[in-house]
Amino acid sequence: MFRIITSILVTFMVSCAVAAIFHNIWWQVFILMTIGQFFVFYTVNQVYTNYLYEKIQRVNIELLTQQQRNIADVKCPCSENNIQEVDMRMDKRNTYKCSKCEKDIVCNINIDTAIETSPIYFESR
Ligand SMILES: [Zn+2]
Repeated sequence: MFRIITSILVTFMVSCAVAAIFHNIWWQVFILMTIGQFFVFYTVNQVYTNYLYEKIQRVNIELLTQQQRNIADVKCPCSENNIQEVDMRMDKRNTYKCSKCEKDIVCNINIDTAIETSPIYFESR
């Protein structure tokens, strides 16, 4: 509330200062300056809000992209025994170029199944 009153007072003071230059048409200049300031600052606020909203959306998209990444250490089948990090995706074919032998390597994701076991010993706290 205090900020709104301060903002309106500053707006009126700027309008008064500009209107004082044209003292023979004071009221017209004062009203024009006040409406003009509200219009200009409303437009600036809208543009800035849209800019911030777009920036937040871009950061959220980047965050979701980073959360979907699965980086795995894979070993090249060549004789160099080269292990390198590869960004694995479940929805497409994963290929990378080995940094030592310069060949294109395909990574297959093997999924195993096992019977779940429940622990029989619990450490007392
Ligand atoms: Zn290799």
